[in-house]
Amino acid sequence: RNPELDALLQAHEWSAKLYHFLLKNTEHGKPAMEYLKARGFTDKAIDQFQIGYAPARWDTLVQFLDKRSFDLGAMERGGLLASRQDGSGYVDRFRDRIIFPIHNRTGKVIAFAGRILGEGQPKYLNSPESKLFIKSRTLYNLHQAKSSIRKTGQIVLFEGYGDVISASEAGVHNGVATMGTALTESHAAILRNLADEVIVCYDGDNAGQAAALKSIPILEAAGFQVKISVLSEGLDPDEFIQKYGAERFIRQIIEGSVSSTKFRLINLKKNHIMLGAGEDAKVPFIKEAMEVIAPIESPTEREIYLKELSADLKVSFESLKQECNQFRTDLQKKQQDGDNNPKRWNNGRHKK
Ligand code: ATP
Ligand code: MN
Ligand code: MN
Ligand code: MN
Repeated sequence: RNPELDALLQAHEWSAKLYHFLLKNTEHGKPAMEYLKARGFTDKAIDQFQIGYAPARWDTLVQFLDKRSFDLGAMERGGLLASRQDGSGYVDRFRDRIIFPIHNRTGKVIAFAGRILGEGQPKYLNSPESKLFIKSRTLYNLHQAKSSIRKTGQIVLFEGYGDVISASEAGVHNGVATMGTALTESHAAILRNLADEVIVCYDGDNAGQAAALKSIPILEAAGFQVKISVLSEGLDPDEFIQKYGAERFIRQIIEGSVSSTKFRLINLKKNHIMLGAGEDAKVPFIKEAMEVIAPIESPTEREIYLKELSADLKVSFESLKQECNQFRTDLQKKQQDGDNNPKRWNNGRHKK
């Protein structure tokens, strides 16, 4: 038992309750509540995710914690408060922001994310990392999602808090999100203990789709079966649900998620369409597509993708298959050359 850590956990729990109360029951909280309602957050979601509001004052939390005899220095070290610039005491870290409490796996509040009402920078402000809160190992909503994850054998990975909450409202309860940071190997390892399959459901803008591509090798290295949702119009999952509804979200975005290979191919095609739709644009596209398809071990899987490509590009299946086999021969040769590479020998891989 560590008394400072226990006090910090206690303070986080009470702060979450205070912010939630202020949102729901006070004059201060009204604009925040209106903002949330305008975005489609329901009372049920606000309660379930313990959403709150930090008033536009410097000492709401300072007073609250001081009255309860918490050591304010320890609260500052734990990320709940900030030091005054002249060192003369403490101020609230979150002011005039919507508060999303962040829980650890067992459901204890360990940090907060604060969103500005409307436009402005920074859009989100997170608690700093502390003994309690390590971003690379924290997944938003894991404490609530884990039972559904175990039941379905599946995880849905989002970018944002709003995405997780709207998806849950839409009936997708196995959703989690990273803390505005890229997915790490630690995240993947934590999730891998709970399920075999993950659906990456990132934003439909360029940043989101690029992040989805980057997450594939991390998740596959952890042994996941990976599916990717394809969002169009630059929408994020939350916006998609608000615009098209729960049923279409589940059908099109969750059930319609594609294999990582298919997703890579869709992305390649998008890039090449942007570069020009002429007949000869097909040649470099085919080369890049082969880099995705040729390394696949299963011949039937390769055939499926090659057939699609053939129909798509109006190029014969036979020639694509030849091209693919050529790629595989080259790949195998490269691998053998690699194995015979004297540098590798010296690296001790083939010690005598
Ligand atoms: P909203 O729907 O409230 O506008 P969002 O979740 O769609 O937010 P994005 O811009 O798509 O926001 O960013 C995805 C996630 O990245 C956010 O949920 C948040 O965790 C994180 N994030 C975004 N902007 C910031 C920022 N300025 N500082 C820290 N984290 C951020
Ligand atoms: Mn985004
Ligand atoms: Mn988003
Ligand atoms: Mn959003």
